[in-house]
Amino acid sequence: MPTHNGERVVLLPGDGIGPEVAEQARRVLELLVPEIEIEERLIGAAAIRATGTPFPPETRDACVRATAVLKGPVGDPEFDAADVRPEQGLLALRAALDTYANLRPAVAGDVDLLIVRELVGGLYFGARGVRDDGTVYDTCEYHPRQVERIVRRAFRLAQTRHGRLTSVDKANVLDTSRLWRRIVDDLAPEYPDVAVEHLLVDNAAMQLATNPEQFDVIVTENMFGDILSDLAAAVTGGLGLAPSASLSDGGPGLFEPVHGSAPDIAGRGVANPAAMLRSTAMLLEHGLGRLEEASALSCAVDLALVSTPTVDLGGTATTDELGAAIREQLVVDGLAASPYRGGDAARA
Ligand code: NAD
Repeated sequence: MPTHNGERVVLLPGDGIGPEVAEQARRVLELLVPEIEIEERLIGAAAIRATGTPFPPETRDACVRATAVLKGPVGDPEFDAADVRPEQGLLALRAALDTYANLRPAVAGDVDLLIVRELVGGLYFGARGVRDDGTVYDTCEYHPRQVERIVRRAFRLAQTRHGRLTSVDKANVLDTSRLWRRIVDDLAPEYPDVAVEHLLVDNAAMQLATNPEQFDVIVTENMFGDILSDLAAAVTGGLGLAPSASLSDGGPGLFEPVHGSAPDIAGRGVANPAAMLRSTAMLLEHGLGRLEEASALSCAVDLALVSTPTVDLGGTATTDELGAAIREQLVVDGLAASPYRGGDAARA
């Protein structure tokens, strides 16, 4: 078994159903990569209750020193009207790790696409305010360096997939989009094995809704990516199944399900852990470079969802039962680490 000296995953269970799905992720990691240390820390409402802040310094220190961070959802209705809110912890975490590249795969049937969304620029981070006449404004701003690093990341990802890159913009209207398009075209000759096309965002939305099979990698700016990735999730089974990875250059990546803390079902043991476990597969691939284990986990989740569907998918399986079916599949595939074989199958 390879040794990964000093590799450490920080697990942030979060709120609501977070601890329930995080427990399944912990058990899968202990099964697949038992040599990797798992350190659990507080974030969100759980952290506010314990320390008064949603992203305590101890959590921050652990995350920036980690090999990778695996996070459950945050959010609790108790803090909806509060000044200090759980979701502030998530934004602070993303900023601390400078995770500018948000990867959102959408896979179902013949659809196998990856949306690469710029995460720390554009409209959500530009100047904003209120003019004297009462006009409220947000501005979309991009520095060429911000565009170049996300576009390069998307080209490299396309090289590892089917070699097709769709760049989505609104270049017929926006200057930031024209900058975006120019940079994509300037970089394209450096990646001759990747076929590039440009799509306007309105057309991209229509194509995603009607013919999502055509796409391989889609790269786009922050807000377009925010909207298109939810649309892609919707046409491939819904938010409850969707994972994400947010990557920086060199620092630890952040891996988390797209869904929220689902307070309506929290504590009942019926949350679907698939999105969290698919995020764990992305952590294995992009955070730890464990491609074989990542692929095995993705396949195990797909198979177990068919054999053991949870309540949200019209089945009856609990969180534990789907988690157990996934671990059992990993043991059958022979990928689970040997000391745990049998023992976990028995638990399953
Ligand atoms: P939500 O995703 O928590 O829930 C929407 C619906 O989907 C609910 O009916 C819920 O029961 C269901 N659902 C979600 N995940 C599921 C799962 N794994 N299995 C089965 N059913 C699932 O969205 P919301 O209700 O709008 O938000 C609840 C809280 O989560 C809010 O406080 C919000 O701010 C927070 N939130 C956090 C994140 C994050 O941490 N990244 C993302 C989105 C929302």
